[in-house]
Amino acid sequence: MRLEEIVIDNLRKLRRLISVRRMDDAEEAACKIVKYIFEDAPVLGLDLDGTIDEAPEFFRLLSRIWPGRVVIITCRLDEDKARADADKFGVFYDELVTVRKLEDKAEAIEQTGVTVYVDDQDECLMDIPMDVTVLKIRNEGNFTDGKWLYSGRTGKQIC
Ligand SMILES: [Mg+2]
Repeated sequence: MRLEEIVIDNLRKLRRLISVRRMDDAEEAACKIVKYIFEDAPVLGLDLDGTIDEAPEFFRLLSRIWPGRVVIITCRLDEDKARADADKFGVFYDELVTVRKLEDKAEAIEQTGVTVYVDDQDECLMDIPMDVTVLKIRNEGNFTDGKWLYSGRTGKQIC
């Protein structure tokens, strides 16, 4: 199906679903319109533990309206459990990649073409290419008593 046909098809579905007040299905159709209408949109990469599960409603909505591909990159051994957890949070994704070590995320980011990446651990953010936009999530594991936690390897005190 061509891009234009996909958008028009979902637009028709959206109108019909709103008219019969099926709002959950209408939301799904609306998200598909946004998904397909943009070309060359940035590829969004998301960490799962400490990131998606830290703000699940935000990431559910963001991933569904994000106009480009969405890739979950998680440091887990059990891919099926990772998919089940992502689905439990209602997060949309095109691809889910599991890595064995936190440091391997940078390579996964390059291989999947991620251009905007969200994570909570500095160890995962160290070797990401400078042309990738990095966003860091705050949680109890990386922020306490009003200060960011970092190690000598991941941070540099400036004063
Ligand atoms: Mg994490």
